[in-house]
Amino acid sequence: MKQLRRWGLGLLALVTMVGLVTLATYTPAQETAAPPTLESAGLTLEELGDGVYGLVASVDFPPADAGMAICNGGIVIGDDGVLVVDPFQSEALGDLLFDTVATLTDQPVKYVVNTHYHFDHTGGNPAAASRDLPILGRGPIREFMLTRNGENDTNITPPEVIITGTWDLWLGERQVQIREFDGHSGGTDLLAYVPDADVLIAGDLFFHQRIPYMADGSIRTLQATLAQLIADYSTATMLPGHGSVSDAEGLTIFKSYLDTLEGLALGWQTAGTSKEEALATPIPGPYQDFMFQALFPGNLEVAYNQITLGQDDAASIQQYLAAQPEVLKAL
Ligand SMILES: [Zn+2]
Repeated sequence: MKQLRRWGLGLLALVTMVGLVTLATYTPAQETAAPPTLESAGLTLEELGDGVYGLVASVDFPPADAGMAICNGGIVIGDDGVLVVDPFQSEALGDLLFDTVATLTDQPVKYVVNTHYHFDHTGGNPAAASRDLPILGRGPIREFMLTRNGENDTNITPPEVIITGTWDLWLGERQVQIREFDGHSGGTDLLAYVPDADVLIAGDLFFHQRIPYMADGSIRTLQATLAQLIADYSTATMLPGHGSVSDAEGLTIFKSYLDTLEGLALGWQTAGTSKEEALATPIPGPYQDFMFQALFPGNLEVAYNQITLGQDDAASIQQYLAAQPEVLKAL
Protein backbone atom coordinates (compact mmCIF):
# COMPACT_ATOMS: atom_id res chain seq x y z
CA MET A 1 0.00 0.00 0.00
CA LYS A 2 2.84 2.34 0.97
CA GLN A 3 4.53 1.43 -2.29
CA LEU A 4 1.35 2.23 -4.24
CA ARG A 5 1.04 5.58 -2.50
CA ARG A 6 4.64 6.38 -3.33
CA TRP A 7 3.97 5.61 -6.99
CA GLY A 8 0.90 7.82 -6.89
CA LEU A 9 2.87 10.68 -5.35
CA GLY A 10 5.64 10.14 -7.90
CA LEU A 11 3.15 10.41 -10.74
CA LEU A 12 1.63 13.55 -9.22
CA ALA A 13 5.12 15.04 -8.90
CA LEU A 14 5.84 14.18 -12.54
CA VAL A 15 2.61 15.78 -13.75
CA THR A 16 3.37 18.86 -11.64
CA MET A 17 6.89 19.01 -13.03
CA VAL A 18 5.62 18.83 -16.61
CA GLY A 19 3.24 21.64 -15.76
CA LEU A 20 6.08 23.71 -14.26
CA VAL A 21 8.33 23.08 -17.24
CA THR A 22 5.53 24.34 -19.53
CA LEU A 23 5.08 27.35 -17.28
CA ALA A 24 8.82 27.90 -17.29
CA THR A 25 8.74 28.70 -20.98
CA TYR A 26 6.69 31.78 -20.11
CA THR A 27 8.26 32.87 -16.82
CA PRO A 28 11.95 33.06 -15.88
CA ALA A 29 13.03 29.85 -14.15
CA GLN A 30 13.99 30.17 -10.49
CA GLU A 31 17.69 29.41 -9.97
CA THR A 32 17.75 26.64 -7.41
CA ALA A 33 20.82 24.44 -7.15
CA ALA A 34 20.14 20.72 -6.79
CA PRO A 35 20.80 19.45 -3.24
CA PRO A 36 24.41 18.27 -2.95
CA THR A 37 25.34 14.61 -2.86
CA LEU A 38 28.45 13.20 -1.20
CA GLU A 39 29.94 12.96 -4.68
CA SER A 40 29.10 16.52 -5.77
CA ALA A 41 30.38 17.81 -2.40
CA GLY A 42 33.66 15.93 -2.88
CA LEU A 43 33.09 13.99 0.36
CA THR A 44 34.00 10.38 1.13
CA LEU A 45 32.38 8.53 4.04
CA GLU A 46 34.99 6.58 6.00
CA GLU A 47 34.61 4.42 9.13
CA LEU A 48 37.27 5.51 11.64
CA GLY A 49 36.32 3.01 14.34
CA ASP A 50 33.26 1.08 15.43
CA GLY A 51 30.35 3.50 14.85
CA VAL A 52 32.61 6.51 14.28
CA TYR A 53 32.72 8.04 10.81
CA GLY A 54 34.43 10.83 8.97
CA LEU A 55 33.12 12.69 5.94
CA VAL A 56 36.43 13.50 4.35
CA ALA A 57 36.69 16.49 1.98
CA SER A 58 38.88 16.34 -1.09
CA VAL A 59 38.76 19.88 -2.48
CA ASP A 60 41.73 22.27 -2.61
CA PHE A 61 41.52 25.78 -1.17
CA PRO A 62 40.11 28.09 -2.37
CA PRO A 63 37.57 25.56 -3.69
CA ALA A 64 37.00 25.47 -7.45
CA ASP A 65 33.27 24.90 -6.86
CA ALA A 66 31.40 26.68 -4.04
CA GLY A 67 29.17 23.61 -3.55
CA MET A 68 32.07 21.42 -2.42
CA ALA A 69 32.74 20.88 1.27
CA ILE A 70 35.94 22.55 2.48
CA CYS A 71 36.42 20.80 5.82
CA ASN A 72 35.86 17.30 7.23
CA GLY A 73 32.78 16.37 9.25
CA GLY A 74 32.50 13.74 12.00
CA ILE A 75 29.77 11.34 13.14
CA VAL A 76 29.77 9.40 16.43
CA ILE A 77 26.98 6.85 16.89
CA GLY A 78 26.26 5.72 20.43
CA ASP A 79 23.61 3.46 22.00
CA ASP A 80 20.83 6.02 22.12
CA GLY A 81 21.94 8.97 20.06
CA VAL A 82 24.44 10.51 17.70
CA LEU A 83 26.94 13.36 17.97
CA VAL A 84 28.00 15.20 14.82
CA VAL A 85 30.98 17.48 14.38
CA ASP A 86 31.32 20.49 12.04
CA PRO A 87 28.33 20.64 9.63
CA PHE A 88 30.43 22.23 6.84
CA GLN A 89 30.03 25.72 5.35
CA SER A 90 26.41 25.84 4.18
CA GLU A 91 22.96 24.72 5.26
CA ALA A 92 22.74 22.44 2.19
CA LEU A 93 25.95 20.65 3.20
CA GLY A 94 24.72 20.53 6.82
CA ASP A 95 21.53 18.84 5.56
CA LEU A 96 23.72 16.37 3.66
CA LEU A 97 25.53 15.52 6.92
CA PHE A 98 22.22 14.80 8.71
CA ASP A 99 20.94 12.80 5.71
CA THR A 100 24.15 10.75 5.81
CA VAL A 101 23.63 10.02 9.52
CA ALA A 102 20.15 8.71 8.65
CA THR A 103 21.68 6.22 6.20
CA LEU A 104 23.87 4.83 9.03
CA THR A 105 21.47 4.62 11.98
CA ASP A 106 17.88 5.21 13.13
CA GLN A 107 19.14 6.91 16.28
CA PRO A 108 18.48 10.64 16.65
CA VAL A 109 21.24 13.23 16.59
CA LYS A 110 21.64 14.60 20.14
CA TYR A 111 24.57 17.01 19.87
CA VAL A 112 26.24 19.15 17.22
CA VAL A 113 29.78 20.30 18.02
CA ASN A 114 31.70 23.14 16.34
CA THR A 115 35.45 22.52 16.71
CA HIS A 116 36.02 26.30 16.31
CA TYR A 117 34.38 29.40 14.85
CA HIS A 118 35.65 29.48 11.25
CA PHE A 119 32.88 29.63 8.65
CA ASP A 120 33.87 26.44 6.82
CA HIS A 121 33.00 24.47 9.99
CA THR A 122 30.00 26.52 11.22
CA GLY A 123 28.19 27.83 8.11
CA GLY A 124 26.07 24.65 8.12
CA ASN A 125 24.76 25.33 11.65
CA PRO A 126 21.32 26.46 10.32
CA ALA A 127 20.74 22.81 9.33
CA ALA A 128 21.13 21.91 13.02
CA ALA A 129 19.02 24.84 14.22
CA SER A 130 16.17 23.89 11.87
CA ARG A 131 16.17 20.44 13.53
CA ASP A 132 16.10 22.05 17.01
CA LEU A 133 19.44 20.48 17.92
CA PRO A 134 21.80 21.99 20.49
CA ILE A 135 25.01 23.35 18.95
CA LEU A 136 28.05 23.36 21.23
CA GLY A 137 31.10 25.60 20.91
CA ARG A 138 33.87 27.04 23.03
CA GLY A 139 34.90 30.36 24.60
CA PRO A 140 34.39 33.45 22.43
CA ILE A 141 32.89 31.47 19.52
CA ARG A 142 29.60 33.41 19.45
CA GLU A 143 31.28 36.80 19.44
CA PHE A 144 33.85 35.71 16.84
CA MET A 145 31.23 34.22 14.51
CA LEU A 146 28.96 37.27 14.75
CA THR A 147 31.75 39.80 14.21
CA ARG A 148 34.08 37.98 11.83
CA ASN A 149 32.13 35.51 9.67
CA GLY A 150 29.78 37.97 7.92
CA GLU A 151 31.61 37.95 4.62
CA ASN A 152 31.45 34.19 4.19
CA ASP A 153 28.28 33.32 6.08
CA THR A 154 24.99 35.05 5.28
CA ASN A 155 23.02 33.19 7.97
CA ILE A 156 25.33 33.16 10.99
CA THR A 157 23.97 30.71 13.57
CA PRO A 158 26.25 30.60 16.60
CA PRO A 159 26.22 27.78 19.18
CA GLU A 160 23.74 28.11 22.06
CA VAL A 161 25.77 25.99 24.45
CA ILE A 162 29.20 27.36 25.35
CA ILE A 163 31.67 24.86 26.70
CA THR A 164 34.45 26.04 28.98
CA GLY A 165 36.75 23.46 30.50
CA THR A 166 36.45 19.71 30.19
CA TRP A 167 33.19 18.08 29.10
CA ASP A 168 32.18 14.45 28.73
CA LEU A 169 29.10 13.82 26.62
CA TRP A 170 27.30 10.47 26.77
CA LEU A 171 25.47 8.64 24.02
CA GLY A 172 24.06 5.83 26.15
CA GLU A 173 27.11 3.84 27.29
CA ARG A 174 29.44 5.59 24.86
CA GLN A 175 31.50 8.50 26.13
CA VAL A 176 32.74 11.36 23.96
CA GLN A 177 35.37 13.57 25.60
CA ILE A 178 35.36 17.22 24.55
CA ARG A 179 38.69 18.90 25.28
CA GLU A 180 40.04 22.43 24.85
CA PHE A 181 43.36 23.13 23.19
CA ASP A 182 44.80 26.34 21.79
CA GLY A 183 46.72 27.58 18.81
CA HIS A 184 44.48 27.66 15.75
CA SER A 185 41.55 30.01 16.21
CA GLY A 186 41.92 32.51 19.02
CA GLY A 187 40.59 30.46 21.92
CA THR A 188 37.71 28.59 20.24
CA ASP A 189 39.48 25.29 19.42
CA LEU A 190 38.23 22.06 20.86
CA LEU A 191 38.41 18.41 19.90
CA ALA A 192 36.29 15.31 20.40
CA TYR A 193 37.80 11.98 21.49
CA VAL A 194 35.97 8.65 21.59
CA PRO A 195 37.95 6.52 24.08
CA ASP A 196 36.30 3.14 23.40
CA ALA A 197 37.22 3.40 19.68
CA ASP A 198 40.46 5.39 20.20
CA VAL A 199 39.35 7.94 17.59
CA LEU A 200 40.25 11.63 17.76
CA ILE A 201 38.26 14.23 15.83
CA ALA A 202 40.85 16.98 15.91
CA GLY A 203 39.28 19.93 14.06
CA ASP A 204 41.77 22.42 12.68
CA LEU A 205 44.37 21.70 15.33
CA PHE A 206 45.38 19.22 12.63
CA PHE A 207 45.81 20.03 8.92
CA HIS A 208 46.99 16.83 7.22
CA GLN A 209 49.15 17.27 4.12
CA ARG A 210 47.80 20.82 3.81
CA ILE A 211 49.21 24.28 4.49
CA PRO A 212 47.24 25.47 7.55
CA TYR A 213 45.14 28.61 7.91
CA MET A 214 46.98 30.56 10.63
CA ALA A 215 45.59 34.11 10.42
CA ASP A 216 44.27 34.07 13.97
CA GLY A 217 46.40 31.24 15.22
CA SER A 218 49.62 31.22 17.17
CA ILE A 219 52.47 29.18 15.73
CA ARG A 220 54.19 28.55 19.05
CA THR A 221 51.00 27.77 20.94
CA LEU A 222 50.03 25.31 18.22
CA GLN A 223 53.50 23.69 18.30
CA ALA A 224 53.06 23.08 22.04
CA THR A 225 49.51 21.79 21.53
CA LEU A 226 50.66 19.36 18.85
CA ALA A 227 53.44 18.00 21.07
CA GLN A 228 50.77 17.40 23.72
CA LEU A 229 48.35 15.73 21.28
CA ILE A 230 51.10 13.48 19.88
CA ALA A 231 51.84 12.32 23.45
CA ASP A 232 48.21 12.08 24.66
CA TYR A 233 46.73 10.37 21.59
CA SER A 234 49.72 8.38 20.33
CA THR A 235 47.68 5.35 19.23
CA ALA A 236 44.53 7.12 18.02
CA THR A 237 43.02 7.16 14.54
CA MET A 238 42.69 10.86 13.76
CA LEU A 239 40.25 12.84 11.66
CA PRO A 240 41.92 16.18 10.90
CA GLY A 241 39.93 19.34 10.16
CA HIS A 242 41.35 19.20 6.65
CA GLY A 243 43.01 16.30 4.87
CA SER A 244 42.77 12.53 4.86
CA VAL A 245 42.34 10.27 7.90
CA SER A 246 45.64 10.03 9.79
CA ASP A 247 47.35 9.34 13.11
CA ALA A 248 50.10 10.63 15.41
CA GLU A 249 52.64 10.13 12.62
CA GLY A 250 50.72 12.53 10.35
CA LEU A 251 50.39 14.95 13.26
CA THR A 252 54.17 14.81 13.71
CA ILE A 253 54.63 15.85 10.06
CA PHE A 254 52.26 18.78 10.64
CA LYS A 255 54.26 19.80 13.72
CA SER A 256 57.50 19.59 11.74
CA TYR A 257 55.98 22.00 9.20
CA LEU A 258 55.38 24.51 12.00
CA ASP A 259 58.88 23.85 13.40
CA THR A 260 60.22 24.67 9.91
CA LEU A 261 58.26 27.94 9.84
CA GLU A 262 59.68 28.81 13.26
CA GLY A 263 63.21 28.00 12.06
CA LEU A 264 62.76 30.25 9.01
CA ALA A 265 61.47 33.12 11.18
CA LEU A 266 64.38 32.83 13.62
CA GLY A 267 66.78 32.83 10.64
CA TRP A 268 65.20 36.07 9.35
CA GLN A 269 65.65 37.57 12.82
CA THR A 270 69.36 36.73 12.92
CA ALA A 271 69.95 37.92 9.35
CA GLY A 272 67.86 41.09 9.68
CA THR A 273 65.74 40.00 6.71
CA SER A 274 63.03 42.46 5.65
CA LYS A 275 59.41 41.32 5.69
CA GLU A 276 59.24 41.77 1.93
CA GLU A 277 62.19 39.43 1.42
CA ALA A 278 60.84 36.93 3.95
CA LEU A 279 57.47 36.78 2.17
CA ALA A 280 59.23 35.69 -1.05
CA THR A 281 60.42 32.44 0.61
CA PRO A 282 59.36 29.38 -1.42
CA ILE A 283 57.60 26.43 0.24
CA PRO A 284 60.31 24.25 1.79
CA GLY A 285 60.94 20.93 -0.01
CA PRO A 286 59.15 18.42 2.23
CA TYR A 287 55.92 20.43 2.06
CA GLN A 288 55.85 21.25 -1.64
CA ASP A 289 53.15 18.69 -2.38
CA PHE A 290 50.85 19.91 0.41
CA MET A 291 47.47 21.22 -0.77
CA PHE A 292 46.13 24.69 0.22
CA GLN A 293 49.34 26.31 -1.13
CA ALA A 294 47.49 29.63 -1.52
CA LEU A 295 47.70 29.92 2.27
CA PHE A 296 51.51 29.77 2.39
CA PRO A 297 52.26 33.52 2.03
CA GLY A 298 49.89 34.14 4.97
CA ASN A 299 51.83 31.58 7.03
CA LEU A 300 55.09 33.41 6.28
CA GLU A 301 53.57 36.69 7.40
CA VAL A 302 52.28 35.18 10.63
CA ALA A 303 55.71 33.63 11.26
CA TYR A 304 57.41 36.98 10.62
CA ASN A 305 55.06 38.92 12.90
CA GLN A 306 54.90 36.42 15.73
CA ILE A 307 58.44 35.06 15.78
CA THR A 308 60.79 37.40 13.87
CA LEU A 309 59.18 40.51 15.37
CA GLY A 310 57.99 38.83 18.57
CA GLN A 311 54.34 39.93 18.28
CA ASP A 312 52.98 36.64 19.57
CA ASP A 313 49.18 36.76 19.55
CA ALA A 314 48.92 34.08 22.24
CA ALA A 315 48.88 37.10 24.56
CA SER A 316 45.50 38.16 23.21
CA ILE A 317 44.08 34.66 23.69
CA GLN A 318 45.33 34.61 27.27
CA GLN A 319 43.88 38.08 27.86
CA TYR A 320 40.47 36.85 26.76
CA LEU A 321 40.61 33.85 29.06
CA ALA A 322 41.84 35.93 32.00
CA ALA A 323 38.87 38.29 31.55
CA GLN A 324 36.35 35.47 32.09
CA PRO A 325 34.91 35.37 35.63
CA GLU A 326 36.07 32.25 37.50
CA VAL A 327 32.48 31.08 37.94
CA LEU A 328 31.98 30.96 34.17
CA LYS A 329 35.18 29.01 33.67
CA ALA A 330 33.76 26.25 35.85
CA LEU A 331 30.45 25.93 34.01
ZN1 LIG B 1 38.94 24.81 8.65
